[in-house]
Amino acid sequence: MTDQTPLDRLTAKLRSIHHLRDAAAVLSWDQETYMPSGSGAIRAEQLATLQTLAHDQFVSPEVESLLAPFLNCATGDLLPEQTASLDAASQSLLRETWRDYSRAKKLPSAFVNELERECSLAQQVWATARKTNDFQLFLPNLERMVVLKRREADYLGYTDSPYNALLDAYEPGSTVTQLRPLFQTLRTELVRLLDLIRESPVQPQANLMTQCFDTAKQLEFGRLVLKHMGYDFQRGRLDLSAHPFTTSFHPTDVRVTTRVFERDLPSCLFSCIHEGGHGLYEQGLPSAHYGTPLGEAISLGIHESQSRLWENSVGRSRAFWQYFYPKLQDLFPDQLGSVQDADFYLAINRVNPSLIRVEADELTYNLHIMLRFEIELDVIEGRLAVEDLPDAWNAKMKDYLGIVPTSDAEGVLQDVHWSFGAFGYFPTYTLGNLYAAMFYRQARTDLPDLEKNITKGNLLPLKDWVNDRVHRWGRQYTSAELIQRVTGIPLTPAPFIEQLTEKFGNLYQLPATASHP
Ligand code: ZN
Repeated sequence: MTDQTPLDRLTAKLRSIHHLRDAAAVLSWDQETYMPSGSGAIRAEQLATLQTLAHDQFVSPEVESLLAPFLNCATGDLLPEQTASLDAASQSLLRETWRDYSRAKKLPSAFVNELERECSLAQQVWATARKTNDFQLFLPNLERMVVLKRREADYLGYTDSPYNALLDAYEPGSTVTQLRPLFQTLRTELVRLLDLIRESPVQPQANLMTQCFDTAKQLEFGRLVLKHMGYDFQRGRLDLSAHPFTTSFHPTDVRVTTRVFERDLPSCLFSCIHEGGHGLYEQGLPSAHYGTPLGEAISLGIHESQSRLWENSVGRSRAFWQYFYPKLQDLFPDQLGSVQDADFYLAINRVNPSLIRVEADELTYNLHIMLRFEIELDVIEGRLAVEDLPDAWNAKMKDYLGIVPTSDAEGVLQDVHWSFGAFGYFPTYTLGNLYAAMFYRQARTDLPDLEKNITKGNLLPLKDWVNDRVHRWGRQYTSAELIQRVTGIPLTPAPFIEQLTEKFGNLYQLPATASHP
C-alpha cells in the first residue's frame, strides 16, 4: 500500500461521494432525454435514494474527522501550523469543502426531508396550475414553500436579510446590499435604451425567423457551431430535451441538450451555443481535481457568464455571422438565400418586450430578472403576501416592460423555480450577463486578433482564453476574486451597458445620447 497523506484521504472520500452524485446526475439526464414516460415515479425514488446517500455520507463524522487535522471544524479557520506548507490550491480545497460541509450540517435532516417532499409535491401542483392558469391552486404550496425557505435561512444564519442566506447557495458572497444598486443602475439604462429602440424607424423583419426550417438541418448547424467552439464530442454529446440544459458527470463526460422547432430558427441555434458555453466550462475543469471543489464551477453566475459570453458576445455578433451566415444560407437557400446579411443580423438581435423570460432578447431579459429579484426579496423579507404575487407581478411588468400578462400562466406562474424552492436563483442570470461582458472586454484586450479570428470561424483562441483564465481554476478563487484577477476591476455593470449601447445604437440607428453607466 502506498502512503496516503491526510489530504489524499479527504480527497478520496470526497471523490467517492461525488460518484454517487454523478450516478444521480446520469439518471436525471436520462429522465430528461430518453426515459419512458411511465417510469417517472420510480425514477424519483431512485434519485432520492442516491441523493440521500450522498448527503448522509457528506455530513458524516468521517468527513469531519478528515477535515479536523487541517481546520477548526466549528469556525472553518485553517490551523496555521498544519496548513502553512500547503499550496494555495490545497488551502482553497479545504476552505471550500468546509464551506459546503458546514452549510449542509446546519440543516437538520428532518427539515431537509420536509423540504424535499414539499419541492416534489409543489412542482407537480405548479405544473397543473400553470397548465390550467390557476394561481389559487398553487397558492397553499407556495405559501408553505416561503415558510420553509425562511426557516432554511434561519438555520443557515445571515446578516441583514434572510434572502442573503438563500442567495449564498447559488452565488457565494453575493448580498442584497451589493445587488440593489447594481440592478438599479442597470434598470435605468436598460429602460432608457428600450424606449429609444421602440421609437426607432429601423425595425427587423419579424417573419424571417419563423419560416419553415428543416429540424435535422438545424441540428446539423448547431453541431457545426459547437465543433468550432471547441466543444469536444469525444467527451460530450448533444441530445434533445424539452428544456435545454448541460450536465456533467466528469470533465470527460459533459452532455448538452437542445430543442428544435421548425418555425423558430433562433431557438435551437442559440440554445446550442448557450449550452455549449456551459459545456466548455465543465469540459475545462481540471480532471485531476475531480470530486473536490477545485474540480467544480465557482457559482451559477460565473457558469452563466460562460454561456452568455458565447451566446451573446460571440453568437450575436457581426464577426461571428460574417463566417457562419454563408454556411447557414447554404443549408437553407430557399429561406435565406436572398436575405441580406445585415437583415439577418438585425433579426437575430431583435429587441421586443415579451411576457416570457426564456424567450426574451438580450436587453429585456434582465428586466425580467429584476422584477423577480424585487418580488422574491419582498416575499422573503415579509413585505409582500404570497397571495398578492400576481398583482405585484403585473404591476412591475407594466412598469418595466410596458406590457401586462392577460393570464397568470403567462405571468407569475411561468417559471418552475419557486416550486422547487429556488429563491435567490434568478439574480445569477443577470450576474452572468454582467460577468460575461466583463470577460469579453478583457478577452478583446488580451487577444488583439480575437474578432479577426472570429470572422474566419476560428473560435479556439477565445476557448483557450476562457480555459486558462476561468475554467482551470475550479473553485480556487471566489467569483469576486476571479473577476478582479481576470479583469483587474470588481464587478460592474458598465461593460455590459456599453456593449448593449454600442451594438443597439448601431443596429437601430439610435440618436447618439451619452450613456451614464
Ligand atoms: Zn444557462
